[in-house]
Amino acid sequence: MNIVLLGAPGAGKGTQAQKLTAEFGFAHISTGDLLRGAIAAGSPLGLEAKGYMDAGQLVPDELVLSLLKERLGADDVGRGFILDGYPRNTAQAVTLDAVLRDMGKSLDAALLVAVDPAVIVDRLSRRRACRECGFTGVDSMHACPRCGGEMYQRDDDKPATIEARLDTYATKTAPLIEYFKGQDKLAEVDGQGDPDEVYVHVKEVLGL
Ligand code: ADP
Ligand code: ZN
Repeated sequence: MNIVLLGAPGAGKGTQAQKLTAEFGFAHISTGDLLRGAIAAGSPLGLEAKGYMDAGQLVPDELVLSLLKERLGADDVGRGFILDGYPRNTAQAVTLDAVLRDMGKSLDAALLVAVDPAVIVDRLSRRRACRECGFTGVDSMHACPRCGGEMYQRDDDKPATIEARLDTYATKTAPLIEYFKGQDKLAEVDGQGDPDEVYVHVKEVLGL
């Protein structure tokens, strides 16, 4: 199954993607993780991307697309994939359709994880990520439960950037909800509450 995830930053897209990956073996493709990987590697692309990310803006489409295309070429994608963080605007959605068509693939569903904006700010400020594997946790975790790596606060989870990211989401990304509705691919879950409960609903709406 090929799925894209929609929802505000902090809605819990990554957490649900991790669960789907663990149970069904889908490839979890997070463009945010790909970009942070490029930054950590010190590549020119990473350097260019970092300024946009720290400002809570979208990285230019062509930079993200080159990372995405490379990742979609990997072997594990054949079992299905979950795209987390892409598309983030209408142009990216149109590009994605074309890229997948060229690969003989298509999307089965766009899963919207819906969360009240008031909850989002609180979640993002408490969020921590693993430096080694990208696992997402909360501020009470000092070591990664998956790999033992160091948990840290992403630069863009600092309060000054959170507001800008929510604004970017509302203006650029939220219109994709209508886009996928128009393609009859939208599936929606309430992202509030316990991650395991949300996951039960995720599987229901995806027919898994
Ligand atoms: P979140 O969904 O919590 O905002 P991500 O890790 O998905 O976190 O993304 C972090 C940042 O990476 C975004 O704010 C943006 O700057 C950049 N980014 C990720 N994916 C894309 C994309 N598809 N297009 C443009 N920028 C992106
Ligand atoms: Zn880890």
